[in-house]
Amino acid sequence: MKKTFTCIICPNGCSLDVDYDGQNIIVKGNLCKRGEIYAKEEIIAPKRTISSSVRLIDGDMEIVSVRLSSPVPKSMIFPIMEVIKKTRVTAPVHIGDVLIHDVLSTGADVIATRNAERRS
Ligand code: SF4
Repeated sequence: MKKTFTCIICPNGCSLDVDYDGQNIIVKGNLCKRGEIYAKEEIIAPKRTISSSVRLIDGDMEIVSVRLSSPVPKSMIFPIMEVIKKTRVTAPVHIGDVLIHDVLSTGADVIATRNAERRS
């Protein structure tokens, strides 16, 4: 299998040519080792991270922005989005607070990326 895709690890955006015969993965076009690691992961077990928002109870705003602490398997993105959509947290919330620990046993936490105070 041959695939070409763009490395998203840094702004260089190297075009990666990947050749996979079922056992060996050969990567060309990468300017550094991180691109090779990314390409191999994309072939074997692609991962993604997400940013979203969680509904707040008694907050000075309706929602608070969140992100995952680490990338998760691509297939888990929609299930995780469903969990995030159903989650409600009570203010106050501070940047870095873990709002959902180990979401769906992926090892990733959902963490706040914004401060939200209690409604006065
Ligand atoms: S291969 Fe290396 S230099 Fe190129 S985009 Fe990926 S991380 Fe950046």
